[in-house]
Amino acid sequence: MFERVENILKIAEEKNTAAIAFICMDFVMARSVVCAAHATNTPAIVMLYPEHVSLQHTCNLSGYAAMVKELANSVKVPVGLHLDHDYTYDSIIDAIGKGFTSVMMDGSMHDLDTNISLTKAVVRKAHELGTAVEGEIGHVGSAADADNYKEDLFTKPEAAEKFCRESGVDSLAVSIGNAHGEYKETPHLNMERLEEIKAAVEVPLVLHGGSGIPDDQLITAFSKGIRKFNLGTEFLGRYYDAMGKYMEENRNNSNPVKIIDYPEYIQAELQPYLEERMKTLCRF
Ligand SMILES: [Zn+2]
Repeated sequence: MFERVENILKIAEEKNTAAIAFICMDFVMARSVVCAAHATNTPAIVMLYPEHVSLQHTCNLSGYAAMVKELANSVKVPVGLHLDHDYTYDSIIDAIGKGFTSVMMDGSMHDLDTNISLTKAVVRKAHELGTAVEGEIGHVGSAADADNYKEDLFTKPEAAEKFCRESGVDSLAVSIGNAHGEYKETPHLNMERLEEIKAAVEVPLVLHGGSGIPDDQLITAFSKGIRKFNLGTEFLGRYYDAMGKYMEENRNNSNPVKIIDYPEYIQAELQPYLEERMKTLCRF
């Protein structure tokens, strides 16, 4: 059932757990997530990374939003739709017009006051249009640059409180030792900082850069206030591996249209991984 992300985060709050938001670049990935959510009866979020539209051209905005809603409505479990990191008012409002009911405005590379004013303008318009907004304070950097060790990038509780109060965001992405991409060494989330942020703000908290954080740390973080957990790098890597396996196995397949079996094959490879992630990490 298609469900708004803010409602899925409310269910997560009631159960003291987090919903996983999976970066899906195309129909195969999105359908795999929806089928895994159905099979495990676990609410989940299908999330678009805007560059998959602007750079990789794996989909377009309105097609993606309609696709996710139709897939979600084919199952009973709640499935949400979210636009990941976007940076400008115009592109976010455009995505809302094309069917996105939850978006991220990432102003975290700016100073606090600029971040607040940019995010606030998006929130005001998005709320008029009935859309929820995730903001970010502190900065979730790049794992390749070891940004997860840079404590000056961590979210400060008092700044988080001011940011939420003044911008009016519906959820907040935090930096507590997490980073995007592949970690060089095992990351260590700062749970004390997470508790301080949780105590300072009312809105649900979001953890980005989920690929490679040990499960025990994730489960602890979920029990301490993380309500949405973004998973991209690891899932995309699984897709790549499945694609390689299919190519290898079909090298001598003489069927000129062998490509048509590819989506079912990929889904059969991805879905067990997704189900395992949902069963291991989520407590709905
Ligand atoms: Zn992110």
